[in-house]
Amino acid sequence: MRSRTPDRLCAEAVDLARTAAEEAAAPGTVGEHVDAVADGDRVVTHLFECKEPGYRGWRWAVTVARASRAKHVTLDESVLLPGPDALLAPEWVSWSERLRPGDMGPGDLLPTEAEDLRLDPGLFGGADGADGVGVAPGVAELADAEDADVEPGSPAVQPDTTARGSIAAVADELGLGRPRVLSRYGLHAAADRWEEAYGPKTAMAQAAPANCVSCGFLVPLAGSLRQAFGICANEFGPADGHVVSLGYGCGGHSEAAIMPKPPRPAPPVIDETVVDPLPLRPDRAGGSVEESGPGEEFGHS
Ligand code: SF4
Repeated sequence: MRSRTPDRLCAEAVDLARTAAEEAAAPGTVGEHVDAVADGDRVVTHLFECKEPGYRGWRWAVTVARASRAKHVTLDESVLLPGPDALLAPEWVSWSERLRPGDMGPGDLLPTEAEDLRLDPGLFGGADGADGVGVAPGVAELADAEDADVEPGSPAVQPDTTARGSIAAVADELGLGRPRVLSRYGLHAAADRWEEAYGPKTAMAQAAPANCVSCGFLVPLAGSLRQAFGICANEFGPADGHVVSLGYGCGGHSEAAIMPKPPRPAPPVIDETVVDPLPLRPDRAGGSVEESGPGEEFGHS
């Protein structure tokens, strides 16, 4: 194994290396000689401190070399390199990995990768759609047959179009008109997200008097998701417009609280039809109305 002890002549060429570093650096920014590292036989790199304020911990690295049996040391290269304590920019991360939910704004476009795991080809995706939209062969035949039935003229003279509309509706419902549909992975990932945000383990659900499954504000979903999720339509609830787990719940549950009726006030007692005589001199107990002279006061109860 070859020795990595720096070649003596190359290690002594500090001044040559410093001169090269000072030529490359801004004036006055080459600091102390830090180290001399053997890169190979008769190849040594001299390291100098960098005093640039924006390059804290970086070092000027100047490599010198000497030919075999030559006494003359020559310059290879000088470059600024980060040291062990250098201040470095964070590692670059591609935009697709930096993207977070809610980052998209109006006008932004988010391309979806061809191999996106959240999507699967439509039921007959891309099989025969010249425009790139997959159409089931059976549906295409039905659509052709229906086109043949169309009579020239206004819609009023057309034959019944209910069947045609039904086929289109069913095709759309099944995803036959879409090149890609949600994959099983995408479905589960979405369900996990919704369960975490509006699921039975949230603090709101734990403190709720009842679950969404029995709430009148729950709008059911279609498909397999309806077994576990619905949409909350209570504008005063914390999840209005969001997909909620059937095990979620909140204090706005339609049946959770009966609004208390305001208490009915007691009927007023009015007794203004009888005059109550009050004696002017209570010390004369037993005084009667007759004892009171004319013009003396009377009070009402
Ligand atoms: S109001 Fe509350 S309990 Fe009712 S569906 Fe919305 S979140 Fe669920």
